[in-house]
Amino acid sequence: MKNGNLSINSENIFPVIKKWLYSDHDIFVRELISNGCDAVTKLKKLSLMGEFDEPDEPYRIDVTTSANDKTITFTDNGIGMTEEEVEKYINQIAFSGAEAFLEQYKDKATEEQIIGHFGLGFYSAFMVADKVTIETKSYKDGEDAVYWECEDGLEYSMKKCIKADRGTTITLYLNEDSYEFANEYRIKEVIDKYCSFMPVEIYYTNADEPQEDPKDATVDVDAKEVSDTADNAEDSKGPDADDTKTEEKKPEAPKPLNTTTPLWAKHPNDCTDEEYKEFYRKVFHDYKEPLFWIHLNMDYPFNLKGILYFPKINTQYDNLEGTIKLYNNQVFVADNIKEVIPEFLMLLKGCIDCPDLPLNVSRSALQNDGFVKKISDYITKKVADKLSGMYKTHREDYEKYWDDINPFIKFGCLKDLKFLDKMKDFCIYKNLAGKYITLPEYLEAGKEKYENKVFYVTDEQAQSQYINMFKAEGMDALIMTQTIDSPFITLLEQKNENVHFYRIDAELSDNFVGEELSEETAKEYKDKLTATFEKALDMKNLNVKVESLKDENTSSILTQPEETRRMQEMMKMYGMAGM
Ligand code: ADP
Ligand code: MG
Repeated sequence: MKNGNLSINSENIFPVIKKWLYSDHDIFVRELISNGCDAVTKLKKLSLMGEFDEPDEPYRIDVTTSANDKTITFTDNGIGMTEEEVEKYINQIAFSGAEAFLEQYKDKATEEQIIGHFGLGFYSAFMVADKVTIETKSYKDGEDAVYWECEDGLEYSMKKCIKADRGTTITLYLNEDSYEFANEYRIKEVIDKYCSFMPVEIYYTNADEPQEDPKDATVDVDAKEVSDTADNAEDSKGPDADDTKTEEKKPEAPKPLNTTTPLWAKHPNDCTDEEYKEFYRKVFHDYKEPLFWIHLNMDYPFNLKGILYFPKINTQYDNLEGTIKLYNNQVFVADNIKEVIPEFLMLLKGCIDCPDLPLNVSRSALQNDGFVKKISDYITKKVADKLSGMYKTHREDYEKYWDDINPFIKFGCLKDLKFLDKMKDFCIYKNLAGKYITLPEYLEAGKEKYENKVFYVTDEQAQSQYINMFKAEGMDALIMTQTIDSPFITLLEQKNENVHFYRIDAELSDNFVGEELSEETAKEYKDKLTATFEKALDMKNLNVKVESLKDENTSSILTQPEETRRMQEMMKMYGMAGM
């Protein structure tokens, strides 16, 4: 038996653990299961190098809870630890086990690295447990199994023990605040959150329930039910019927909780549309089909795989918020890490797996990390490439999707000028004839009648009178009815100096003016109208100008200068924000 104090280098690790206590309480599940995965990966690597004979039984991780005992155990059949290794990797906390492993095998190991990205790792168990034990047996022949125990996270004891199988079992005796994790549904939920795509099969057992040994399972054919079914009594007695019955009653082979090969890890050429859709349903629980997706697959100059889906958005009812799940070697890290994923891409739904990410650094360091910026730029570029590619080669599809994807694209352009640069020629607008055209196409068609002016409609019903006049004059306007169109218009004006946008009711273009009125008639109307308006508006000295309209169906129209209106809208917006 050996006792000792844990050698805690640096300022002491427990303040850090305590800090974690206030945030992601459940993260210990990820840490302990990913350690099990690492233990298996190391063993697989050794067998690749011929240092270990591949075992007959499959690699697996077992999670068992007992709500009665208030315990959770994590068992793997990976590499295990010798006494020396427990001393080195567990007792000397600050020592990085992965580094030693790499150092030891650096000449033989493949490029794929095994590095604990998450820092605290094993010790996160003390976030939820008063007492933690380890039973472990190394893959190495002739090594004794080791039992390790630690009550308070600071002092440990260690002794030899009997353990039949290779691998490691970690038992957590949960503290009072953490009993929830011994609950079957809760622990499954956490496993689902962090471990859905971990590379080793994970099984769950509820230790409080009687365990059925598949060999002993009785086949309980209900004879009465069979003979009572008069119509097919003959058939039921036949051998086939009995077989089916037996088949139904056989206990199902237990299924792992996770998928060890997520779709993003496959080569895009090997994935079918159905697989992409299925994956989307499963991961995002969205039963509306996605519009389309982008499969990212890159090895150089950094490793990045993932799938980004463009969801079908119903702008009226859905909030425009997606989810991008970030993984590190199939281990879930977090949703929507804005340092890595450009903000506007958060409107999409997807998974990104980037093993090269330096995740053990703080968020603020991530923000200033050139490498992280490169990843973010790469993702943006890929999305722009996909969209522009679709515009060029599948314009019909692009137009079909446009109503759904345009808020996303416009938001992207507003947020990221590089994205604007890439996408500005591929933004299309519905015109009065219901056709999709680009801005240059619109300007070209209207260059004689309204050079550099772009008229737009924000409400097809309210502005129908103007729309009809425009149509009668052979003039066109763009339908821009979404909230994001207003800032987007401002952006377009900033970027195209000569282009100016006017709402369709902003001015009375010369095209609409009919025959000139006689001086007498003009004066008569002017006086009458001035009096009427001054009275109605309770204002004096209004400047009223009278013109006749070409369109005989329109008795009069109201216009409001573009700038005045924009100013009013802005003030209204700020006013409302201040309420
Ligand atoms: P990291 O995984 O980042 O190295 P951890 O604190 O999670 O840090 O684990 C420390 C070390 O303890 C690991 O590197 C490994 O050597 C050892 N270890 C932890 N869990 C296991 C396990 N289930 N099987 C074998 N070794 C383990
Ligand atoms: Mg670890």
